[in-house]
Amino acid sequence: MARRYLQATALRQTIQAAKVKDERILAKVAAIELEVALAGKQFHSASRHGKRLFLKLNDSLWLALHLGLTGRLIYLESEAEEPRHTRLLISFENGHRLAFDDPRIFGEVGLTKSPAAFLVERKIGPDALLLEREGFLEIMSKRKGLIKPALLNQNLVAGLGNLYADEALFQAGICPKTRGLTIEQLIALYSSIQDVLKTALSTDANLSKLPDSYLLPHRHPGGTCPRDGALLRHEKIGGRTSYFCPEHQKRIMFDKK
Ligand SMILES: [Zn+2]
Repeated sequence: MARRYLQATALRQTIQAAKVKDERILAKVAAIELEVALAGKQFHSASRHGKRLFLKLNDSLWLALHLGLTGRLIYLESEAEEPRHTRLLISFENGHRLAFDDPRIFGEVGLTKSPAAFLVERKIGPDALLLEREGFLEIMSKRKGLIKPALLNQNLVAGLGNLYADEALFQAGICPKTRGLTIEQLIALYSSIQDVLKTALSTDANLSKLPDSYLLPHRHPGGTCPRDGALLRHEKIGGRTSYFCPEHQKRIMFDKK
């Protein structure tokens, strides 16, 4: 989504100037340092890892972006008006600009030597969509805690947010409060994570375009399960609101407790 958007707009154009408009967006970098690092360079490529984007400036310098919950990258053609909550504005020599708009400042911007170095430094786990099944089983079978917080732990697997974690558990028929999943359950969960993330990509994360058989269109107080009609339950699990079906996501015999 954001990566493809950047590829179609902002790559391989010389940056005339970068302006940090709100320093709260910065992670471990000073505004002047970031502005100097960007000036005169081009973004050569864009890669994604979980919810992070990396834009290559040269062999040893990348811009690292996290869009957070409310951040967007907007490419502004010539005179187009700058979004209201622009935190970083990059002007290109061709007269167009790239704005990082983030009303609530959940996102962040920084510099790194390479995406790999950044991920190691921040202890970020493998990207959920690129993770092989064996890797997922390896990581998750060692976990003793509840499954839902483990799915959201970005140190284990990156890129699965609260909504899509609920969706994957729903599709795999696993209660978010289960601990000690069987290999069969983990295999089912792995394939539903892949399905859910691919569907999310193909719909550009537009929740209204998801199939009605998904949990997310029904994920609200009073919503019912599209499979069996049960009233969905919601409660805080690991500090995050979780929705699940008490009927087909029961904690049955697999729960060792
Ligand atoms: Zn159900």
